[in-house]
Amino acid sequence: MIAEIIAVGSELLTPFRQDTNSLYLTEKLNSIGVEVGFKTIVGDAMKDLVRVATTALARADILIFSGGLGPTEDDLTREAVAETLGLQLRRNPELVAAIERRFAERGWKMSANNIKQADLIQGATILTNSNGTAPGQWISGRSDGREKIIVLLPGPPHELKALFEGAVLERLQAKVPRRYIATRMLRITGMGESACDARVAPIYKRYTDVSTTILAAPGEIQLHLRAQAPSSDAAQLRVDDLVDKLEAELDDAVYSDNGDSLEQIVSYYLQMRSATLAVAESCTGGLLAERLTSVSGSSRYFMGGVVAYSNDLKVKLAEVPADLLDHFGAVSEQVAKALAEGIRKRCGTTLGLGITGVAGPTGGTDEKPVGLVYHALASESGTEVIQRNFPGDRQRIRFFASQQALDMVRRKLM
Ligand code: ATP
Ligand code: MG
Repeated sequence: MIAEIIAVGSELLTPFRQDTNSLYLTEKLNSIGVEVGFKTIVGDAMKDLVRVATTALARADILIFSGGLGPTEDDLTREAVAETLGLQLRRNPELVAAIERRFAERGWKMSANNIKQADLIQGATILTNSNGTAPGQWISGRSDGREKIIVLLPGPPHELKALFEGAVLERLQAKVPRRYIATRMLRITGMGESACDARVAPIYKRYTDVSTTILAAPGEIQLHLRAQAPSSDAAQLRVDDLVDKLEAELDDAVYSDNGDSLEQIVSYYLQMRSATLAVAESCTGGLLAERLTSVSGSSRYFMGGVVAYSNDLKVKLAEVPADLLDHFGAVSEQVAKALAEGIRKRCGTTLGLGITGVAGPTGGTDEKPVGLVYHALASESGTEVIQRNFPGDRQRIRFFASQQALDMVRRKLM
């Protein structure tokens, strides 16, 4: 069965409010094997609401409305759904009494418009809302020979969640065939999106029951896998099987198959090898140290380092020979190497990382354009330097550089 989530509220069409209810609802629906086929956001206008409801009814089996159940003029979800279905709205005496009681208990004066929250679509089941005045509504019936379920939920997230968990989830579970969804994500570095897809597509295309999405994220490629089956074990088995095949193909380009970040993976490797690390950063300005120390327990392997932005401090703090800077310039293979070796020596660590580059947008030359970055990793066995030309703005170039440096440590210790 396919679900459509309809988030109602003109504020959700402004730059100031975001529809987060649908994220929550999607997670919950997936947990019982229901796929969300469509999400719609619509403002508080009767004709738009009816149009959206009509479209949803034609293309989805389960319609979940969020918002527009309040007492004000612009709360029109009840009216619009009733009109779409050709059903009457009836004022429910028990709901009227409950709303009056709610106000009386709190010593509030009830304004007349609150009464419309007691209007029930003909044949609907009341979903009692213990966190607010507007109850939810559940309507099921047949349309075009198919079973349809329509659920109306209040917009405030805490009310919607309590109501969905308390009154909707179990009802839905009883209606939908038991399906389970299993997901996995592979995270990949050092490879472009199209190069990656060219290698993995022949494999995942054979798995017609597993959906595979390839996403480019800053400094990495992600493969999102998702399978549906009548049991959770069966679903898991299918994604796990595909993960094994993809990992065999991509080999060490896969840095994580369980969602862990690159800094987390680097943390595992450094601890496994009882290795320590220090960094000397120029264009990343401390981003590398920030990412390394974002992992709890990083004091066990990350000793520290310097942000050596000026040439002077590269000499003083990271022992870069002044003549190298004069001869090759700060952004050079030689200076990256000297930064890594100097900081390793200074800090007495197993590994030393050096980064120097042009983050832009100013400061680039024909010879050393914006995006040119040198990364060096020094160890007992010598120093490796990687030159990259990253695309993008200052923020992206700096992030790519930190990603490349972390990946060098991962590959070194793998
Ligand atoms: P109320 O009785 O409060 O009027 P309602 O059911 O009419 O409830 P709305 O008026 O649409 O709901 O929204 C009430 C509050 O909930 C607003 O602050 C709104 O920003 C928030 N809200 C509504 N829809 C969503 C959504 N899809 N995601 C996150 N927040 C939402
Ligand atoms: Mg409202």
